[in-house]
Amino acid sequence: NSAPPDPDCLFCKIAAGDIDATIVHEAETTVAFRDLNPQAPTHVLVIPRSHYPNAAALAEADPATAAHLFDAAREIAAAEGLDGADGGYRMVLNTGPAAHQTVFHAHLHLLGGRQMTWPPG
Ligand code: 5GP
Ligand code: ZN
Repeated sequence: NSAPPDPDCLFCKIAAGDIDATIVHEAETTVAFRDLNPQAPTHVLVIPRSHYPNAAALAEADPATAAHLFDAAREIAAAEGLDGADGGYRMVLNTGPAAHQTVFHAHLHLLGGRQMTWPPG
């Protein structure tokens, strides 16, 4: 878990506290904050503190931290009341430009609070 911060990376700056965000979770290897342009009543981004350009690079280099993203998402979903029997939430990891990844620091989207549709756009 030793990837160096990228001085030009927006999410490295948010993790370091150098750019403001509404933080909803902080742990040793992960940070989560509300998306600036929410696509659902709950739209949280869960990121590793360390810089990896996407989820694939994170999974290869630090699978334990990749797992921490899922556990953080589970905790946040419960805290947001999304885990009831009739509820639910979506986790999305856009990986690469064709998947609409626009910020190249690995992040998990946690979306909930409305009925989701499938297939995604
Ligand atoms: P991607 O398209 O890479 O999967 O998702 C990037 C997400 O980052 C988008 O949903 C976008 O709204 C969000 N985002 C971009 N810039 C900022 C920012 O400065 N602050 C926060 N909180 N979210 C951001
Ligand atoms: Zn970064």
